[in-house]
Amino acid sequence: MKQSPRDKKLEEVLRSTRLVAGGFMGTDTRHPIEVIEQDIVELENLGVTTAQLAQRMRELTELAKPRLGNWIDSAFDNLRVKSEDFKGALVCPWPHAGRFDKRITTAERIDTGQKISWSDLNIHMIEQHGFFEGRGAFFRIEPAEIVQILFEGLTESGK
Ligand SMILES: [Zn+2]
Repeated sequence: MKQSPRDKKLEEVLRSTRLVAGGFMGTDTRHPIEVIEQDIVELENLGVTTAQLAQRMRELTELAKPRLGNWIDSAFDNLRVKSEDFKGALVCPWPHAGRFDKRITTAERIDTGQKISWSDLNIHMIEQHGFFEGRGAFFRIEPAEIVQILFEGLTESGK
């Protein structure tokens, strides 16, 4: 694929280990733009938009935040969340102004035992850039996996 100087610069930043340990691309050899395109197609095929996904992730993070370190029942049956804070902040590699608290939210499906974790920066990158990180990256989010955990077969419990 033909790269613009801007795409080349983006790839360098995402592969560098300066912003996060291991970089944002992990062992993925694809160009970041390719990763983004393929993940968005996959997500669309699952019937969820990046906006819907980011909104669900943000709601769960906001729910878990006040009860740091404890599991909280969500508004859905069979889905609980927990949030943990770490020292420091993360910055968007695109780059964007602003810093993201090093908070990690974990969602667990009580019915299947499946778990998935994300940082506040993951929410921003999915929402603004359609970027789920490269395969092998510490915070790579598989579209199929997160949709399965946060959407599939869930009913609002009305709590
Ligand atoms: Zn950004």
